[in-house]
Amino acid sequence: MSTPLVIRDRNTMRNLILTNQTMGRRIGFVPTMGSLHAGHTSLVDRAMAECDDVVTSIFVNPSQFGPQEDFERYPRDFDADFNLLAQHDVRWIFAPDVHEMYPPGDSTRIEISGPAEPYEGQLRPGHFSGVATIVFRLLQSTPANTVYFGAKDWQQVLVVRQMVRDLGLDVEVMTCPIVRDKDGLALSSRNAYLSESERTRAQTIYAALQQAEENWCRGLAIDKIELKVRDMLSAREIRIDYADIVHDESLRKISEVSRNTPAIFLIACHVGSTRLIDNILLPSQT
Ligand code: AMP
Repeated sequence: MSTPLVIRDRNTMRNLILTNQTMGRRIGFVPTMGSLHAGHTSLVDRAMAECDDVVTSIFVNPSQFGPQEDFERYPRDFDADFNLLAQHDVRWIFAPDVHEMYPPGDSTRIEISGPAEPYEGQLRPGHFSGVATIVFRLLQSTPANTVYFGAKDWQQVLVVRQMVRDLGLDVEVMTCPIVRDKDGLALSSRNAYLSESERTRAQTIYAALQQAEENWCRGLAIDKIELKVRDMLSAREIRIDYADIVHDESLRKISEVSRNTPAIFLIACHVGSTRLIDNILLPSQT
């Protein structure tokens, strides 16, 4: 247990990181939007294991929310986040306000094509531009050696990796496994929106993904695997945005003949008014 130092401005943050790196320390960075749970702390713990110091950012990034989305009501609890990060020995918490990250008159955005185009990119126009812009700015302020992301937001990881490659950013990107609740539901700050009965229905998402994995390993046809998942979700009145088996990097649909490529089952769906995403990696079949 240690008491993290809270930093609000970009220059102080940057100078602290650079000074510590000059002293030979490796810095791990975990960007978050706060409302922290065991999924976030799994990234912190991984960073702690691999680096000398860990910095976590807490910033609910307005530019990645669409106009009809939940930016205003997104859960925020700085004190609880601070205490949790203290328990996990985070050294610095970078918690800028909106004007620090988007100064008045700000008019610069990063646009990414390729992995940012399908799925979330199509359904949430501007989302990945907002993600890329804030991740770039956070990395400017927090020039860590390694940055940690969760596999729950699979497409986000691909987008960040693309940006890091294309812009030649000097940071290593690590992807950490999805942390789930006892009932299988992937931990998410948005789970707080679910009523008790919605929460019970939401368990079907992981159950459907597990069934898909079994069917994939048994060699069931891809369209049949997808159909079974859709049926399972629809039976619990879960509205589906997408439920597709795709190549894990290109995000293109996989045909039967290319089943031996690394694949992932991606789901986005609505339980009541709450939108949830989840996925499962499918072992390649040779
Ligand atoms: P967020 O605060 O939702 O923007 O998430 C911050 C980071 O935590 C992202 O890299 C997410 O992918 C990661 N994350 C969120 N939920 C989970 C989870 N259940 N398991 C692993 N990583 C997660």
